Formats: sequence, C-alpha cells, structure tokens
Amino acid sequence: MQKEIRVRIAPSPTGSLHLGTVRTSLYNYLFAKKNKGKFILRIEDTDQERNKDEYTKGILDGFNWLNIKFDEGPYYQSERMDLYRKLAQKLMDEGKAYCCFCTQEELDELRKIQRAAKVPEKYDNRHRNLTEDQKNKFLAEGKKPVTRFKLPDHVDIKWNDEIRGSVCVNTNDLGGDPVIMRADGVPLYNFAVVVDDGDMKISHVIRGDDHLHNTAKQIPIFEALGYPVPIFAHAPLIFTHDREKLSKRKHGDIANIDKYQREGYLPEALANYLVHMSWTQPDNPEAEIFKLDEVIEKFELGRISKSSAVYDLPKLHWFNNHYLKEKSIEEIYNLSKHFLETDLDLSMYPKDQLLKMIDLVRAGINKLDEIPGLIKFFFDDKFNLNEGENQKALNSENAKKILDKVLKTLDSMNFKDSHDCKKTIDEIGKELGLKGKDLYWPVRVALSGSNKGPDLGLIISLLGKDKVKVRVERALAVLV
Ligand code: GLU
Repeated sequence: MQKEIRVRIAPSPTGSLHLGTVRTSLYNYLFAKKNKGKFILRIEDTDQERNKDEYTKGILDGFNWLNIKFDEGPYYQSERMDLYRKLAQKLMDEGKAYCCFCTQEELDELRKIQRAAKVPEKYDNRHRNLTEDQKNKFLAEGKKPVTRFKLPDHVDIKWNDEIRGSVCVNTNDLGGDPVIMRADGVPLYNFAVVVDDGDMKISHVIRGDDHLHNTAKQIPIFEALGYPVPIFAHAPLIFTHDREKLSKRKHGDIANIDKYQREGYLPEALANYLVHMSWTQPDNPEAEIFKLDEVIEKFELGRISKSSAVYDLPKLHWFNNHYLKEKSIEEIYNLSKHFLETDLDLSMYPKDQLLKMIDLVRAGINKLDEIPGLIKFFFDDKFNLNEGENQKALNSENAKKILDKVLKTLDSMNFKDSHDCKKTIDEIGKELGLKGKDLYWPVRVALSGSNKGPDLGLIISLLGKDKVKVRVERALAVLV
C-alpha cells in the first residue's frame, strides 16, 4: 500500500508571514491535494525571546485570507517540549549526543583563530569525548552544558531532491556537531523539526532551498531517532531584480503578506502569481492565469524550476488587474468598502451611484486601495484650480464662455442620462466652434480638478445638477 502523503508548513512567529513561506505553502497545498494527502500547519515557536503572539495571529490570518486550508494543526512546538527533551535524553543515553560545556568566549576565540588561519569556521567537536571526570569538573564549576548531536565524520549525505535532483553535502562542511538543546532545555530548530517531522509522519518536506545544509544535518538525526527519512524538495527562494534575497529587513513591506492584504490585492491573484513564479503547467507551459483548484490535478513538484524566482511588482499588478476584471461591480464594491469608508463620506450618494463611480475607474486600477483616490473628486470639491494644468485650462481663451453656457443649460440637462449630458456639452461646443480638449478641459477641470479622467457625461450625470452648479460657479470665480 502506498504511504500516506503528509506535508507541512512550519513558520516561526518571529515576523509577519513572508511571501516565500506563502509560496512554499502553496506548493505544499497543491501537492497534498493532488495526492489526496494531508497538509499540516505547525508553528515553530520555541524561540521565546523572538516569538510574538501577534505574529502567530498574523500568520493564521494570512493563510485564512489566502484560503489555504489545513487538514491538521496548528500544532505548537511550545506545547511539545517534553517530547523534545525526552528524545534528546534518549540520544544522550545511546551515545549519539553529548554535553558540550564550551562557553561563548571559547567559541568566539576558536572562530577568531580559524578566521586568521583562513580555514572554515566551525565547532571542532572538542567536547565530544569528555571523560566523566572532566564533565564532573565542569559541572562543579557551575557550567551548564548544551546538547550536541554527533554528526558522522567526513560522510557524504546524499538525497534525491524532487526539485534539485541529486544533492550531496559532506558532513565536514556543516560547521561541526550541531547544538540540539540549549543549556536551558529549549530545543533548536534542527532537532525539533526532525522530531516533529518524524512524529507527525511527514512523507515529503517541501521548503525553501536556504535549508539545504540543514537537511544534511537533519538526515542523520532522523536516522539516529529511528524515523524514516522523508523525501525532500527544495524550492528556490524569491530574489529581487538586484539579486538580493527578498527580506523584510532589506526590502521592507513587500516581503510580507500584510502589505498585500492591507492594500487590496486579491488573494487569488497573489496565489496565482506566486505559484506561477516558479511553476508551469505540464500541458500548457505558456499559461499564466490559473486558479489553484484548476491546477491541482496537473501539479508536479518536478516542474518547479531550480533557478531563483524574481519578485516583479508590475507582473503581480498584471495578475491582480486581471482578477479584478473578473469580479462583478458589486463584488468590487464589497471588497473595497473599507477603503472607501475610510476616505470618503459614502452617505453623500446612493449605492447605485457609488457602483457607477467604481465602474468608471475599475479598469485602470492595480489594487483596491487606489479606488478612493480616483473617485474622491465626486465627494470633495476642494481641488486646487490655481495651479499647473488646471490653471492653464481655466485661463484658456474660451473657458469663461463655455462655463457660462454650461450654467445656462443646467435646467434643460437630463442628469439621469449621461449621453444627454455629454450631448449638451457638445452642442455648446458647436455653438462656440470648439471641440476636443479646447471644449472639454475647462469643464473637466471645473468639475473634477483634473483634465484627465472618466467619461465627462458620466461625471456630470453622477455629480448631479446642484454639485455641477456649485463647481462651475467656483471655477468662474477663479477665472475673473
Ligand atoms: N521554522 C522554519 C522556517 O520558518 C521551518 C523550516 C522548515 O520548513 O523546515 O524557516
């Protein structure tokens, strides 16, 4: 019988949910679904100094927003300390791990010497074979030991990576025997992760390729604990155009999911973008637009590219714009409501008018938080008429004549019909022998504070008679 497919994502709540973690989660999710397996969420929260509850909350919120569902979890490592301690002790009892009493000063000194000698910096396993007497002496001095795992010496650790193919790392290049438990009994990543992956019967570990060396440390730990070694798949990391690893520290907000939630990107667009970054469909490699559910059946780990992915904001905007176009105007209204409410007094217009305003600008937006700025002029007429293009348009030769005529025709205009509004302006143009920007710009500027923007007939119709009158009068006052 085929072994059950069980995969996991194991974020540490030491920061917000990183884009790279989201992408790896999506690959895990697709792989689990394709193979009718289980996808598990594990929060790796053993580092009490750096963990924050708000990060855990943000991580859970982020997955929820992206509609990534888990079959099990969240499990919390902080609730599993007894298991790590028990298994660390077992390794000690079996002679597979040992107490190391080296102080930080000693380790720093060692590193200094290695640096000066231009040899790789590593722990030299000096406490691997302490005698009982030596140990007792350290203990009598009040020193508290860390626990180190005995890595085999000079052994090639090899595995067949589902993405990278055959990988080989020599244990000599791993920095010496790794610490698995701190002196205060807190497990370190490379140990806790193996205990959990073993205990949770994880069949495939799909994670970022920054963990390649960790995998080489972890395989001997799996073996020492008697767990089957999972299959590994290391996905490339996300880099910027400058070939830097995408990170919050260097690149700020763009590295974390919060920004995309906050600014009105659609989760399905972000998911599509992230999966597409390094994965193409076997039967249609050119296809860019796909929903997660549509590609489950086609998903293969082997089609994840080995080369690093490049973060490209305009491309993400392209995806978002595409998915926004698929939404009904009502959906866009609901999704953007909190952005609108924050900036605009929505009670000024009935809902059907608001929908029309959004419809006017939706095609040109990359994300939902752009909408309030684009329709703000419907709500606020305090735009500056005395500068730049606005001033130029109102100082044009015929601006006064045009605006005077607009005022005079207000009573006969049918504001319910945007075509009629536009026709009225065109008729004014005919009377004055004007068309194009000579005719439209002064009207546009008077009504919206800009010579660009949506259809003029629609602007007039949505503003309605009273607001048009006030705005035209205000522009005429600026003119004289
Ligand atoms: N907590 C680790 C991280 O966030 C998990 C890595 C892994 O998947 O093993 O990088």
